[in-house]
Amino acid sequence: MDENINELISDLKTYLEYLKGMGIVSLPVAENIPEKATRSETLTLEEVRKELGDCKRCKLHRTRRTIVFGEGNEKATLMFIGEGPGYDEDVQGRPFVGRAGQLLTKIIQSVNLSREGVYIANIIKCRPPQNRNPELDEIQSCHPFLMKQISVIQPKIICALGTFSAQTLLKTDTKITALRGKFFDLEGIKVMPTYHPAFLLRNPERKREVWEDMKKIVECLNNNGKTKEVE
Ligand code: URA
Repeated sequence: MDENINELISDLKTYLEYLKGMGIVSLPVAENIPEKATRSETLTLEEVRKELGDCKRCKLHRTRRTIVFGEGNEKATLMFIGEGPGYDEDVQGRPFVGRAGQLLTKIIQSVNLSREGVYIANIIKCRPPQNRNPELDEIQSCHPFLMKQISVIQPKIICALGTFSAQTLLKTDTKITALRGKFFDLEGIKVMPTYHPAFLLRNPERKREVWEDMKKIVECLNNNGKTKEVE
C-alpha cells in the first residue's frame, strides 16, 4: 500500500515537473470533469455535443471554421484519438478526412474493421492556425469534453495517434517511439499509442510498426479486451 502511494506521489511529481517545464505553474480546478472514464449511464454523445455548444472556451474559436467534435459508433469498442483538425477537417467538420485521414481509413480497413464501427476524435476540436501544435490551455479546455466522450463510449481500447495524443492521454513526456506498441491503462481502458498517419505519410517505412500495433489491438478486441501485459 505504502509502495503504491509512494509510486503515485512520484508519478505526480514527475507530471508537475513536466508541466512546470512547459511554463505551467498553477492548475485550474475544473468543474464537471468525470473523474473516471466509467460508463456514463446518463449522458449521450448528443448531450455532450450540446453542452460543448458554440465553444469559445479557448482562443482557437477565433480562427476555426468548424468544431470537429468526432464521429463514429457511440458503442464502439475501439476509439482513435488524433491530435487536432487540419484544413480539410476544419472545412468539413469531420475528423481525419484529409490525406492523413484517408490513410487512417486504410489502416482501419487493413485489419478488417470499418470507420463506421469505430469512433474517431481528437485531443482538440478546433484547428490551430497554420496547423501549429496545440497549446496547453487549448488542450485543457477541450479535455473535459474528450473525457466525457470516452465515458459515454467506454471503448475497450483507445488507439492514441501520435505524440500529442499519447502524451496527453497518458500524462507523460515519454517519446512516441518508446510508447508505441504497448498497452497502457487509462481508468480501466487500454491505450495503445502508435504513430500518427501524417507521420506515416512522411515516413512510409514506419507503416509496418503501425500494422503490428493494429494487429495487437485486434487480437485484444477478439480476446474481449484482455491482454497479457499492460504497462
Ligand atoms: N490530424 C489529426 O490529428 N486529426 C485530424 O482530424 C486530422 C489530421
